[in-house]
Amino acid sequence: MTTSQPHSTAQSEALFARARAVTPGGVNSPVRAFRSVGGVPRFIASAQGAYLTDADGTRYLDYIGSWGPMILGHNHPAVREAVTQALAGGTSFGAPNEREVDLAELIVGLTGAERVRFVSSGTEATMSALRLARGYTGRKYIVKFRGNYHGHADGLLVEAGSGLMTNAEGELGAAAPSSAGVPEEYAGLTLVLDYNAPEALDALMAARGEEIAAVIFEPVVGNAGVLIPTPDFLAALHRVRDFGAVLIADEVMTGFRLSLSGATGLLSLDPDLRCWGKIVGGGLPVGAYGGRADIMDFVSPQGPVYQAGTLSGNPLAMAAGIATLRELKANPDLYRQLDDYATRLAAGLREAAARAGVPVSINHIGSMLTVFFQGAPDGSVRDYAAAARSDTAAFAAWFQGLLSRGVYWAPSQFESIFISAAHGEAELSATLEAAAQAFEGVE
Ligand code: PLP
Repeated sequence: MTTSQPHSTAQSEALFARARAVTPGGVNSPVRAFRSVGGVPRFIASAQGAYLTDADGTRYLDYIGSWGPMILGHNHPAVREAVTQALAGGTSFGAPNEREVDLAELIVGLTGAERVRFVSSGTEATMSALRLARGYTGRKYIVKFRGNYHGHADGLLVEAGSGLMTNAEGELGAAAPSSAGVPEEYAGLTLVLDYNAPEALDALMAARGEEIAAVIFEPVVGNAGVLIPTPDFLAALHRVRDFGAVLIADEVMTGFRLSLSGATGLLSLDPDLRCWGKIVGGGLPVGAYGGRADIMDFVSPQGPVYQAGTLSGNPLAMAAGIATLRELKANPDLYRQLDDYATRLAAGLREAAARAGVPVSINHIGSMLTVFFQGAPDGSVRDYAAAARSDTAAFAAWFQGLLSRGVYWAPSQFESIFISAAHGEAELSATLEAAAQAFEGVE
């Protein structure tokens, strides 16, 4: 697996050409297009365990995990079985069903949230949680942090990370709003601060706290690459409630990934609301938001804040989520195993990079990890500006070196990789061997 091979990409190229004729940029989500790393995006035909197989029949060791959901590995038998069983009973009812209650009860039991509402994506979850916070407080402004990505709702596409950081042309992070089509008036209701800057947050709250409906944050950032919050910053976040603002932890990426109770459990946080996505749907389209009953009961039909969805609580999606959370609950030791893999991966990558003379700084926590191509000391990349100082050309060369050796890393400097239960000893040593050779190819 670790020999660099010119894999055939003929089928992917042909599919990409067809896709470009009918879909903007040939993809349905921007980072998939490989714009910042070059080369042809691989069209995936199937996935099993820790591996993807593309349309040309090449097998890749996968570190994307569908951008987070596949914590159990691809095509896990328990998830497949649950979805197959649900399928036999019909694909969508547009009426309440027992699986919605089962999954909500699981989430409440694992996280301590008092009420949960299902939607179909992480974007819908954060968008709805913010509307709820505005409805609950009667205030207009929200606060977010530079490089945090909360999905693509208008008011959140302001100095957002993820694909907006990856595909930015010109100065990284220079623009607010970060997308065309977001009216300035809209973006003007979103106040943006640096992550891990507690003084700035305290100062803003002291000056304008009474106007602020909500502060939304990634409790561990995955969307500027991995950034880890400092204890001071977390303490400042909790102080926003003294001003009556609703504290919203966006756990779309970290929920059920960093622990059974997410980053909230791992870092002892106490947000008013939380948003989930990815793992909560076990690879099918599910998002959810939940938290304090007195706030959640403002949601329609209980309360005055409207939010609805044709496919919300879809029985197949609920079945995949239930099976995934039940597996995680039955194997709590998995989190230690994932952390151990990531720790050894980080150590091996540091060593290999040093041997090749390539400066890197690695951030990791649990099964999330980013190799920043820059000479900053490990752990010191703590905000958007620091992440943006990375050498994206060096990253792209390393990414291509890995891909040609059968290892599919996240195709952007500003993303986390995701390790799954299916990543074992064989995968770790194959990755380290491929990575060492790929570092030798970085100028
Ligand atoms: N919030 C966070 C922290 C995310 O990482 C993402 C997606 O990557 C979202 C929200 C949006 O979720 P979705 O892509 O399901 O709309």
